Amino acid sequence: MRVAVVGGGLAGIAAALECADAGAEVTLLEARPRLGGATFSIHRDGIWMDNGQHVFLRCCTAYRQFLVRIEATDRTVLQPRLSIPVVSPGGRIARLERARLPAPLHLLPSLARFSFLSPRERLGIARAVRPLARLDLDDPSLDRRTFGSWLSEHGQSQAAVDALWNLIVLPTVNLPAAEASLALAAKVFQTGLLESADAGDIGYAAVPLQHVHGDAGGEALDQAGVPVRLRTRVDRIERRDGGFSLAFDGEGLDADAVVLTVPHDDAAALLPEGALPQADELGYLGASPIVNLHVVYDRPVTELPFAAGHESPVQWVFDRTRGTGLGQGQYLAVSLSCAREYIGRKVEELRAQFVPALEQLFPEAASARVELFFVTREQRATFRQGPGTSVLRPGPRTQVEGLYLAGAWTDTGWPATMEGAVRSGIDAAREVVGRDRHELEVAA
Ligand SMILES: Cc1cc2nc3c(=O)[nH]c(=O)nc-3n(C[C@H](O)[C@H](O)[C@H](O)COP(=O)(O)OP(=O)(O)OC[C@H]3O[C@@H](n4cnc5c(N)ncnc54)[C@H](O)[C@@H]3O)c2cc1C
Repeated sequence: MRVAVVGGGLAGIAAALECADAGAEVTLLEARPRLGGATFSIHRDGIWMDNGQHVFLRCCTAYRQFLVRIEATDRTVLQPRLSIPVVSPGGRIARLERARLPAPLHLLPSLARFSFLSPRERLGIARAVRPLARLDLDDPSLDRRTFGSWLSEHGQSQAAVDALWNLIVLPTVNLPAAEASLALAAKVFQTGLLESADAGDIGYAAVPLQHVHGDAGGEALDQAGVPVRLRTRVDRIERRDGGFSLAFDGEGLDADAVVLTVPHDDAAALLPEGALPQADELGYLGASPIVNLHVVYDRPVTELPFAAGHESPVQWVFDRTRGTGLGQGQYLAVSLSCAREYIGRKVEELRAQFVPALEQLFPEAASARVELFFVTREQRATFRQGPGTSVLRPGPRTQVEGLYLAGAWTDTGWPATMEGAVRSGIDAAREVVGRDRHELEVAA
């Protein structure tokens, strides 16, 4: 079976490998000059900078298996035990970490000590844990309301939302609790924190993201015998003679099956007529931006590998010094999710706001010199994961036999994450090779 995989992000690489491993003859077509999709790096002034800090959790089992498959696990770090330093102006630190207790009790000791909230607010949070853990993720009504409305119904103060709930929801759902779908927020808390004690241990790339996914993925595809055509933007997918014809740059490629792994707006434009009933509505999935600030100091300003900010515009900040080529000093990457208010701001404005904000969190930064301040902006980092989006997310099958969909935006049950992308790619590939197997059985 000849399979064309369109798109070389995580979903596309995962789908192509899965199909190739099952014996299909796979070609991967990617519009950009590199693999890795929404996860990539740029090289500037001798330093590798990621387009955006990417984090995964121990519970991201498909993504972690994907790292094994592309032999890139050792290019990432995974903390042995969840520990999130939360830093407030003045440098005061409170930690959210897991104790040696079964879930969900593992979080309670650090919550009890979480000094940025009053004892009453901490108790309120502890009380919300059980009903949150019991929400039925298969209940469609969860996607008709916001997480914020559920939190206020469960007695959560604005201070608790700001200090704790948003600390997790913003980077995982890319929206604040007030706008996030309850279904997706509940998925994050249940799977990432409440079902098993080690699920929320945090991992991230130890080297530039491009080396983790794009480069290692490319090598794995090469070894699996998958030709990768970069700088190849597919313009049209047509049904032909029981298969498909893909058009690009005046050329064409015939395939028996196609796995379309491009972002939702690109997919809407490429899907043949009648392939997806809700194709015209995919635009309603919208977009939520992410901005990253890359700040290089002439000397170290913090010993923390990463931290979340409290009462600070700094949401999360990561020490990216190691593995990115910096000779001396320290390189911090500030990650700003749902960055509507920042995406259009000038670099100088962001610098004027965030350099002092970092000095407040890390007082040693006040006596350091900022050698470089660089901004990466991703306008369409994820779809806008608010209520009402679940019905818009299709599964891998389309109404055209042989044409499958994948991508973090498809119906994975997960928010738009690396885990969701890999899962979707594997699910779509299994539909392809499953069909193949079925056909072989019938033929036999
Ligand atoms: C700044 C930022 C920070 C993020 N942080 C996190 C995080 O911390 N943790 C996490 O899990 N996730 C995070 N995400 C989300 C995660 O990166 C994505 O969900 C995931 O990488 C999407 O993978 P994908 O394969 O579905 O799509 P993409 O990566 O978008 O890949 C689609 C590919 O299709 C290609 N393409 C499009 N049209 C065509 C065409 N016509 N022909 C050929 N190719 C085409 C594109 O060039 C692209 O390479 C973040 C995203 C961003 C942008």
